[in-house]
Amino acid sequence: MQVSFEDFKLNKQILDAIAEAGYKEPTEIQQKAITPILAGQDVMGIAQTGTGKTAAFVLPLLMKLKYAQGMDPRALILSPTRELAMQIEEHIRLFSTNLDLRTVLLYGGLGPKTQKEQLEKGCDIIVATPGRFLDLYLEGYINMKSLKFLVMDEADKMMDMGFISKIHRVLEVVPRKRQNLLFSATMSELVRKIAGDFLAFPTVIEVTEQATPAKTVSQTLYRVPNLKTKINLLQHLFKDDEAFHRVIVFCKTKEVADNVFGFLDRKYGEDNVRVIHANKGQNTRINSINAFKSGEIRFLVATDVAARGLDVSNVSHVINFDVPIVIEDYVHRIGRTGRAFNKGDAITFANPAEEYYVEKIEKLIRQSIPVSELPEDVFVEKTPFDERQTIAREIDNQKKKDNPDFKGAFHEKKFVIKQKEALKSGFKPKKTTAKSSGVKKKGKKFKNS
Ligand code: AMP
Repeated sequence: MQVSFEDFKLNKQILDAIAEAGYKEPTEIQQKAITPILAGQDVMGIAQTGTGKTAAFVLPLLMKLKYAQGMDPRALILSPTRELAMQIEEHIRLFSTNLDLRTVLLYGGLGPKTQKEQLEKGCDIIVATPGRFLDLYLEGYINMKSLKFLVMDEADKMMDMGFISKIHRVLEVVPRKRQNLLFSATMSELVRKIAGDFLAFPTVIEVTEQATPAKTVSQTLYRVPNLKTKINLLQHLFKDDEAFHRVIVFCKTKEVADNVFGFLDRKYGEDNVRVIHANKGQNTRINSINAFKSGEIRFLVATDVAARGLDVSNVSHVINFDVPIVIEDYVHRIGRTGRAFNKGDAITFANPAEEYYVEKIEKLIRQSIPVSELPEDVFVEKTPFDERQTIAREIDNQKKKDNPDFKGAFHEKKFVIKQKEALKSGFKPKKTTAKSSGVKKKGKKFKNS
């Protein structure tokens, strides 16, 4: 049965705004969530970004709030990051153009003055990150007595970011009688726990299996021995500027992000690339995201936290320059492409130490990521000594993590024993080098695999 937005009990103003937004048919999460939310049920939605989950709760919420009323908020939407909070607020604005509702957006990193002024004017909806919300609540700027709806978006990220005690604090200050909605991309133990504290007999809706990447995203894995070769591969891929027209490059640290940004900046010019990470000021980040959204720039280099919730349509490619160590981030990262009904490509570069996380990701998503051979004209650089050492050490640590009895190729005693054994057998030792400590061997093994 084909469901259309007209099938929901939404009013004309909202249906008009949906049509203006260009949404033709509801996505799966919208089909499943809108009716129970309108019926007043608590809902737990397991859905990734890119599935249309924001509209799935914003639309029925707007329908229930209808028009401005009193001074105090009737809905509170909590988001782990300011970027996601901004996107939720954008959705609200988009769908409430024909309604008379007041929304206030609260997040940290900026002075609270404007936010306080907005609160003093009265509002119907607050979209907030937990910390700033609590600060302003404790200062007496927010009265919770009229609250009817509490939404927690990306609950898994909230838990990852350590917001659990803040969430409990919020739950202490909201009225008991209210409707609760919780959305999460993955279902971890902590999410289950917070859901238990938060929801009453919820309707559980799962749109894809747990942590399954959207089907519209095609995935590729390249095994790349080192950082310089990763850069060469990036350069090779980006030659195709028609296909790679709007690309997010994910890096695991600020340092790598700055490096990759430096390279792209030199190669394609500063008008084509921006970088976002935690050391960039709030305004710089917003400007960069907007420039990327509007298509002004071709490349956005980002770390995971900075890119959380980033909602840009028509992202052609997500490149995982590094494999995410928080493996759930893989699903979030590649969810930036192939949004709603579009197609997208996610390409992951993995060095030998990162294979460990690839395996874990494959278990999580219950699929193997198709491997592609490095294209012939990508120059494979020799791994410099330091990088070889780092990679070998990481692999050692991974083995130790999985097997506490593992002593490690780098283990000094073992090395000395080996040397003694060699001496006994009449072998004259060379000076210690990375080669003799087995590092080279690992590099080779990787190359052949
Ligand atoms: P979300 O999963 O909420 O982050 O939404 C992902 C993207 O899909 C956003 O850009 C939405 O505007 C878009 N979107 C959500 N629902 C629909 C729909 N029914 N039709 C077309 N686009 C949609």
